[in-house]
Amino acid sequence: MKIHEYQGKDLLKKFQVPVPAGDVAETSKEARTVAEELAEGPFVVKAQIHAGGRGKGGGIKVAATPEEVEDAAGRILGMTLITPQTGPEGRVVNKVLVEQAQEIDKELYLGIVVDRASGRPVLMMSSAGGMEIEEVAARTPELIIKETVNPTTGCMAYQARNLAFGVGLGAQLIRPAVSFIENLYRVFTALDCSLAEINPLVVTKQGEILALDAKINLDDNALYRHHDLAALEDPEEMDPLEHEARKHHLNYIRLSGNIGAMVNGAGLAMATMDLIKAAGAEPANFLDVGGGASAEMVANGFRIILADPNVKGVLINIFGGILRCDVLANGVVEAVKEVQVKVPIIVRLEGTNVELGRQILQNSGLKFTVAADMRDAAQKVAALVQ
Ligand code: ADP
Ligand code: MG
Repeated sequence: MKIHEYQGKDLLKKFQVPVPAGDVAETSKEARTVAEELAEGPFVVKAQIHAGGRGKGGGIKVAATPEEVEDAAGRILGMTLITPQTGPEGRVVNKVLVEQAQEIDKELYLGIVVDRASGRPVLMMSSAGGMEIEEVAARTPELIIKETVNPTTGCMAYQARNLAFGVGLGAQLIRPAVSFIENLYRVFTALDCSLAEINPLVVTKQGEILALDAKINLDDNALYRHHDLAALEDPEEMDPLEHEARKHHLNYIRLSGNIGAMVNGAGLAMATMDLIKAAGAEPANFLDVGGGASAEMVANGFRIILADPNVKGVLINIFGGILRCDVLANGVVEAVKEVQVKVPIIVRLEGTNVELGRQILQNSGLKFTVAADMRDAAQKVAALVQ
């Protein structure tokens, strides 16, 4: 789960990771009040969307006075902000963070992720702050210092020192940098983050170390342990169909193709997407209705697939195990009663109660093509949409 920068900074503060003074605002008047309550200007007004690269798109503005903050917030709030990370459709800005502008001496990078190769958290620090870390890794990998952490011991002081010295911080900055790194590691583990990225981490002209940006991603599978964090979710930032799917406990991820796929089992869903691609088409979604899906869940899944206007054909690929083919068929029929199906449907059913399932579909009046096997199903649906 992604959260906003202002929410991330609130969490950082609780763990003694220093951030600039500031607060969130939803109107330009509120933004002005925040500025008035801060010390003196200048201030920075920052669009709060779940994407980076905001500066380049006009989502970050410096303002000298509270009046200018109000004006800048008025221009940013409600705008559709397009950045390299939002895609061409951009994101509507509903909130801004107003904070104290810093006089920046150095911009660094600090990130913590789980490294799949070692199965451990890895800390990465770089003197090339403000740039995308992927870009730094591609062009100047020698500028990235890494420390792999043993989760039993946690981040050791020597590892934090290696990072701080490695990015060339001066002697008087080592101590605050080490506690910054150690505290960020505590955030990462205590909140079950999948990513904690500070880009840039800055050294100010006054010699302070601050998190100027905060990208904190939380592990969805651990949210049951953090009810307070689950409340940070912003439905406005989610794809509406993914949001709907989540309400129905469906594993649905929207993609950019035009073939909707309803599959049971994540592995089968991945294989189905591969076959759709191999047949020369692109999947419109990943949907695993789950092993123990009810007819109602199937109906919801089918409805969500059809609600995507890009979908020009649907492939239903079910291997009836725990989810029996008749339950699937009843779910599809239930959904079809409510929505008009205007796109071709290809069905591949195998397994428990397959005959009954086919019969239910045949008697439903729904027009669909039966495929002999998975590959045939993918090829048929690809041919239909081309
Ligand atoms: P994004 O990653 O979306 O571009 P950042 O929060 O990293 O947004 O900000 C981009 C740049 O804007 C920073 O690298 C910094 O130069 C400037 N900036 C952001 N916040 C402040 C601040 N409080 N004071 C001064 N400059 C800032
Ligand atoms: Mg940033």
